[in-house]
Amino acid sequence: MNSAEIRQKFLDFFASKQHQIVPSAPIVVKDDPTLMFINSGMAPFKDYFLGNKPAPYKRVADTQKCLRVSGKHNDLEEVGYDTYHHTMFEMLGNWSFGDYFKKEALQWSWELLTEVYQLPKDRLYVSVFQGDAAENLPMDQEAYDIWKTMIAEDRILMGNKKDNFWEMGDTGPCGPCSEIHVDLRSDEERAKVDGKTLVNADHPQVVEIWNNVFMEFNRLADTSLVKLPAQHVDTGMGFERLCMAIQGKQSNYDTDVFQPLIQYVANEAGVTYGQDEKTDVAIRVIADHIRAISFTISDGQLPSNNKAGYVIRRILRRAVRYGFTFLDFKKPFLYKLTEVLAEQTAHVFPELKQQLGFVQRVIEEEENAFLRTLENGLKRLDALEDTFKQNNNTIDGKTAFELYDTFGFPLDLTALIAREKGLKVDEQGFGKEMEQQKNRSRNASATEQSDWVILQPDVVNEFVGYDCDTTDSHIVRYRQVKAKNKSEYHLVLDKTPFYAESGGQVGDVGYLVADGERVEVLDTKKENDLILHITSKLPQNVEAGFRSEIDAERRNLIRKNHSATHLLHSALRKVLGDHVQQRGSLVNEKILRFDFSHFAKVEDAELRQIEHIVNERVRQAIPLDERRNVPIDEAKNMGATALFGEKYGDFVRVITFGSDYSVELCGGTHVHNTGNIGYFKIISESSVAAGVRRIEAITAEAAEEHMQQQLNELNAVREVLNTQSNVSGAVQKMQEDLKALQKQLEAYELKQLGNLKETLAQKAQQLNGINLITERVDLSSADYLKKLAFDMRQVVENLVLILAAEIDGKPQIAVMLSDNLVQEKNLNASQLVRELAKEIKGGGGGQPFYATAGGKDVSGLNAVPAKAVELIKAIINE
Ligand code: ATP
Ligand code: MG
Repeated sequence: MNSAEIRQKFLDFFASKQHQIVPSAPIVVKDDPTLMFINSGMAPFKDYFLGNKPAPYKRVADTQKCLRVSGKHNDLEEVGYDTYHHTMFEMLGNWSFGDYFKKEALQWSWELLTEVYQLPKDRLYVSVFQGDAAENLPMDQEAYDIWKTMIAEDRILMGNKKDNFWEMGDTGPCGPCSEIHVDLRSDEERAKVDGKTLVNADHPQVVEIWNNVFMEFNRLADTSLVKLPAQHVDTGMGFERLCMAIQGKQSNYDTDVFQPLIQYVANEAGVTYGQDEKTDVAIRVIADHIRAISFTISDGQLPSNNKAGYVIRRILRRAVRYGFTFLDFKKPFLYKLTEVLAEQTAHVFPELKQQLGFVQRVIEEEENAFLRTLENGLKRLDALEDTFKQNNNTIDGKTAFELYDTFGFPLDLTALIAREKGLKVDEQGFGKEMEQQKNRSRNASATEQSDWVILQPDVVNEFVGYDCDTTDSHIVRYRQVKAKNKSEYHLVLDKTPFYAESGGQVGDVGYLVADGERVEVLDTKKENDLILHITSKLPQNVEAGFRSEIDAERRNLIRKNHSATHLLHSALRKVLGDHVQQRGSLVNEKILRFDFSHFAKVEDAELRQIEHIVNERVRQAIPLDERRNVPIDEAKNMGATALFGEKYGDFVRVITFGSDYSVELCGGTHVHNTGNIGYFKIISESSVAAGVRRIEAITAEAAEEHMQQQLNELNAVREVLNTQSNVSGAVQKMQEDLKALQKQLEAYELKQLGNLKETLAQKAQQLNGINLITERVDLSSADYLKKLAFDMRQVVENLVLILAAEIDGKPQIAVMLSDNLVQEKNLNASQLVRELAKEIKGGGGGQPFYATAGGKDVSGLNAVPAKAVELIKAIINE
């Protein structure tokens, strides 16, 4: 069975058990401050488990793209070394939201594995929660009894809290779980060692494939457990591991999920996979990481310097580094793999193939940048080599950490290079630096969250801000959040006009008003589907009714900018082409910022055209067509611009400004009519990353003000030029005149210089076989002073020339000697100029035959010629 069939069989099986099959949510998480990437199949359904929102279906199944490289689940360091942990993997899952429970879940999992996939029963083990005295939790007898009817009792193992009690996070839904493990060893080995003893013991061929979690409890911040009102099932099966088991392989990498990538990399590197552990690890790292990188980028997360973007950058760099060190890839190579992957996954995750060109460019650019950094790090190591040698042949911890932190060299790479150079690395010192940095960032980000105080259970928070700016509300729950030196409150209301930051649009601000009290709402944010009103204090009576009102004026400006963003998006596609896709956006009361994929600078003429199209739409005063709760397929039929990375929901909101012009899925707030935008003006165009451009623009009053400022500036110029028409012509003419004058001036000065040269030559004093000329001169630039000195050298033999001049208000001295004097008379221009510079309170130097000095005291210049004569006489007479 190939992997595509295996996946399909899973989905078909659960469809036959009345499950709704849904597509994978994007791997990049948008509205959850506790999670950057989806790390398990249940994550997109958190709101249903938390009771924030009713589930639209009681039974759901899917395959979910997951990433485990940060936070609670972090498998990154294992990846490549073991054969069954990946960064990005697919988790097959089935869910019951308050519907079926343990019996159906376990029976179906058994039926699927042993009857549909035909996995031999004597290779399977299951585990059951053994209970925990400290938590006062009993053993999961119910699960045990169900298993007993299907599998021999000696294959049912007891598991402790670590392995068999699943928790979503520090707080939240949790419960006992029951795992299924498979033993893939040969019959011979199985006869030697009982598989039971290898379960949960990190054996690469005895691995967990499926986990059935029974959500029964909610963990509170004080660590106590309370029973959930409804019970749920959450299961997760590693797709790649399942393929390994069904295809009878010993490693996930030997399945058809990874082989095309593995073979491609091996081929590029000119090695054979399976012959050398070192190159094998590198090949596995690359085959694994390219999946994580490609799918996160195609779901909307660009590599960057912080947060989620930095996680992606680190994975990419890990792959580049393994290729660089073990496979001798010195040029970008990762980006080439995306094509293989896109072909392979087009039928399940079409988003990659659809954006292939873009994803490739982003990766190639990142690779280039990191390879340059690697080179620089290597140079830094070379430069310090002597220092290390003197330091007992050791690279100190600080430098190793600097290489890690600044140049992206992990310790093992530094160690490897060190070994090649006959050096060691102070690993302890490195660890200390690392620890210090961790402490620094830990302290900076430590926050403490209290449990929700629930005032009205089961009340869903309703957003009414599309239709009104104020409404009557009650608080349904609140909590306190303490960060380093501030404390704030998160309030959830039954009804609210406050828009929570999302889709690029900033959150609303405003007030909650009860008799005699106004509590300011500082910001509004989302946590999954909860709308959090952020305040610095609680209202005196949290149970009272309020009037909640947003800052309507600010919101109006935001509406204009948001609608203008839609008009801009369509104009961009019209002018630049359909490859333009939104890559990010910010809409606030001042400005709109739109990032989009495009590979070249947007030319001025194109910008004008884009601006023109948008303003035309503004003048057409197109009414807003807003439709809520549109089934997703219908929205697509309406021609809605597909947004990758948009979370799957059955019903969406469609915003249309002219059905043939702009149709977008959007949750934001908009003007009723494009005429309200008033005027649209682009103020900048720039690059933000490889293949991503950014346009910033303003609308309405801000645009008017901007244009007025420009006009004021122009009028000021007109006044100065004293002309009303053809200002640019007048400025151009002025510049031409200026150039002509400059030329004339130069010619004049050169002629003057020639005259000066002759005058000076005649002033030479004969002194003991030398021609001494010391003079204060009048020159307009240091270049002329130098030219004069060098010209004199051509025409006067045995020359000792000392010139003093005031140039741009500063005193300068130049000393020029004929070469023969330097040798024969023991004269030195540098020494002379230094001595003379004392007169002008300055210093200088140069070569033995020519030197210059500058100073601070112009009044000392006049004394220089006489002092020079004295000096020279003293030297010569000796
Ligand atoms: P393990 O102990 O093997 O790391 P886990 O206990 O972390 O697994 P769960 O969180 O229960 O796993 O996830 C459910 C299933 O997802 C596992 O049974 C396994 O098949 C799969 N899985 C978990 N982590 C990974 C990973 N990093 N790569 C591939 N599959 C994984
Ligand atoms: Mg794990």
